[in-house]
Amino acid sequence: MKAEQFTKLKALLERVQKNSVFYKSKFAAAGLDINEIKDPSDLAKIPFTTKEQLREAYPLGIQAVPDEDIVRIHSSSGTTGKPIIIPYTVNDVQTWAEMMSRCMAVAGVTNKDRVQITPGYGLWTAGIGFQAGAERLGAMAIPMGPGNTEKQLQMMIDLGATVLTATSSYALLLAEQIHKRGLKDQIKLKKGIIGSERWGEKMRARIKDELGIELYDIYGLTEIYGPGISISCKYNNGLHYWDEYLLFEVINPQTGENVPDGEYGELVITTLTKEGAPLIRYRTRDITRLLTGECPCGMSHPRHDIILGRTDDMVKVKGVNIYPGQVDDVLKHIEGVSSEYQIVLDRVEAKDSMLLRFELQDGVTAADAEMRVKKYFKTKVGLSINTEALKLGGLPRSEKKTARVIDNRYA
Ligand code: ZN
Repeated sequence: MKAEQFTKLKALLERVQKNSVFYKSKFAAAGLDINEIKDPSDLAKIPFTTKEQLREAYPLGIQAVPDEDIVRIHSSSGTTGKPIIIPYTVNDVQTWAEMMSRCMAVAGVTNKDRVQITPGYGLWTAGIGFQAGAERLGAMAIPMGPGNTEKQLQMMIDLGATVLTATSSYALLLAEQIHKRGLKDQIKLKKGIIGSERWGEKMRARIKDELGIELYDIYGLTEIYGPGISISCKYNNGLHYWDEYLLFEVINPQTGENVPDGEYGELVITTLTKEGAPLIRYRTRDITRLLTGECPCGMSHPRHDIILGRTDDMVKVKGVNIYPGQVDDVLKHIEGVSSEYQIVLDRVEAKDSMLLRFELQDGVTAADAEMRVKKYFKTKVGLSINTEALKLGGLPRSEKKTARVIDNRYA
């Protein structure tokens, strides 16, 4: 943690201790006296904030400023149970726009660009976040929202949109429609800023090839402003995040302990300057790792890796946490194999065993590929596994990553 971040953290703790019923009772329940937080190593003494706690605080229990300071609310989708409502002050709205405009600047967007915004508007944070960022940069925002592919394509062509912001699946759908209708010569897109879903290399390559554009990964979640808290740069080696506003930690989701930089775990975020609904050590349930070293782009903002999945998708094998995204990552680095895979877990003589099935591309021998996958998996994930190489198309195709894990251990 930087000294400046710690100063902001201290101020945040004092602010919520004074003004937030939510945190006051949380700290009291955890027996935390905020004066005990004397240096960055004391961070672990502060209790986590969870999605469940925010849900229980519905509708506005998380609000940490007087009503007259709130200018807007957003809400998470709330597929299960009550939604989470996040109130924003003027400063919060401006900070978010600033982060988003920086993200766009990293992607090379300028005031000459025309940004077609296809994520949703309304309670959902995505659309308006992109719009505020584009406007702050002086670009032309085209606030389409999702759906209505006919109209999307018409506006894209007639207005000469140069930047597309979308989820990966919607970007792919548009790319396929453009290809199918033979419109590629009429579109002027140069860049895509893609967020909100985890997407593999294969999908990335398809969107990139179909549209012939540069792609940038953007990350964020409604509880923490919305999209725009980090973005990949042209080197595509992780996402830079805005550490003057946000403190990132990665923890072991089972023990709650911080893991060393470079190790995968659950991303935990503290909003250092947020006023309306400050979040302290918020457990995102997203799996990633903090990256060390400098990025060739020269930006000093630290990086985290792409999101590998959700903590809910995690499986534990021989005491090692495995996320489906890690397998994607391994296969991506092995030449001659496709990105499809299946994990089969069994229990043999009271011990876990993991079989990784994957597909070979033409002209690659099974024995050779299996050896390389085993070796690379052991190095990257720290686990010895069995492998089975199948011919291309030998595995079922599934959009859901979780369906790729067959756990027979406790059946
Ligand atoms: Zn960079």
